[in-house]
Amino acid sequence: MSKKFVCIICPNSCEIEIDDQGQVSGAKCKRGIEFAEQELAGPARIVTTTILCKDLKCTERIPVKTIHPIPLADIAKVMLQIKTIVLNHKPALGDILDQEGVSLVVTGE
Ligand code: SF4
Repeated sequence: MSKKFVCIICPNSCEIEIDDQGQVSGAKCKRGIEFAEQELAGPARIVTTTILCKDLKCTERIPVKTIHPIPLADIAKVMLQIKTIVLNHKPALGDILDQEGVSLVVTGE
């Protein structure tokens, strides 16, 4: 039985189909083929969220995203891990944070 996906890599939103023989159709580029094959093997997503930063001057939330895609089934668990992170200094844009077993990159200030 074939599987259909809507590619989320770019705004073209190609409708991609993988047939029983593993042939991929509908993708306008190689990235879409890789996306569809990954969706078939085990869907995963980059998680974007914020973490708490408390220093002497202020308390604020800092935007971050995971460095690696997280399997869909693990996203809730990873969000709980991220929720426990509290920084005592303000990170810079692009800083890599390895906290609570999760690797994050700072995406804003
Ligand atoms: S297949 Fe390529 S062109 Fe189509 S949505 Fe995916 S990334 Fe964009």
